[in-house]
Amino acid sequence: MTDSPTLRLHSYESFGAVDGPGIRLVVFLQGCPLRCLFCHNPDTWDPKGGRDVTLEEIVQRAKRMRPYLGDEGGVTFSGGEPLLQAPALLQAIHALHAEGFHVAIDTSGAIDTPETRAVLDAADLILLDVKSPTPDRFKEVTGLDMAPTCRIFDHLRATQKPIWIRQVVAHGLNETPDEKAATKAFIEGLNVQRIDRLPYHELGLHKYESMGIPYRGCQLSKPSDEELKL
Ligand code: SF4
Repeated sequence: MTDSPTLRLHSYESFGAVDGPGIRLVVFLQGCPLRCLFCHNPDTWDPKGGRDVTLEEIVQRAKRMRPYLGDEGGVTFSGGEPLLQAPALLQAIHALHAEGFHVAIDTSGAIDTPETRAVLDAADLILLDVKSPTPDRFKEVTGLDMAPTCRIFDHLRATQKPIWIRQVVAHGLNETPDEKAATKAFIEGLNVQRIDRLPYHELGLHKYESMGIPYRGCQLSKPSDEELKL
């Protein structure tokens, strides 16, 4: 591969065990337009941060890991928000498919363009992050308008792409019966194969301190076991 296109990379995780089936090479891409209340990776926000990585480097890394990934595993692109780099990401998916790798995308679905839809169509599995199921709360939680996310969810309903739902659950955010009912309604009709409700934690707070930016999720706390259930 010469003049290989590049992606902006935050970091790799080799041997990822929770971001899709099997053992996975997780490629965390740099840049995110959301500002989630509970984000523990503010260091991924700046699209100019990180470093450029060629698609060839990613494919070669995945090939070196093939004995560990096996038949069940593969490559997952996470972030940040990977759809921010949709054109090059689409090429990366095609390059990895050409080598026989299963490819998952971990996304909020908050960017709706022809290119982002093409990425979602090409991926084998979408790890779909539900930020909030209602427009007012979505804006409060992410800082963004919810309309593009709703359109992407509709697109995923139409294509019936396999989905793993992921939702950070916090006391003070989305633990109430009303919020749970709204979440169920919001994901209805999707080809949901698994739901992961992830308990809120504060492990990333030191990053806010070191970056000198205020943390917006101070009112949140870890949910009880009952609150965590959908
Ligand atoms: S989408 Fe992810 S990286 Fe972006 S602000 Fe939300 S939690 Fe953080």
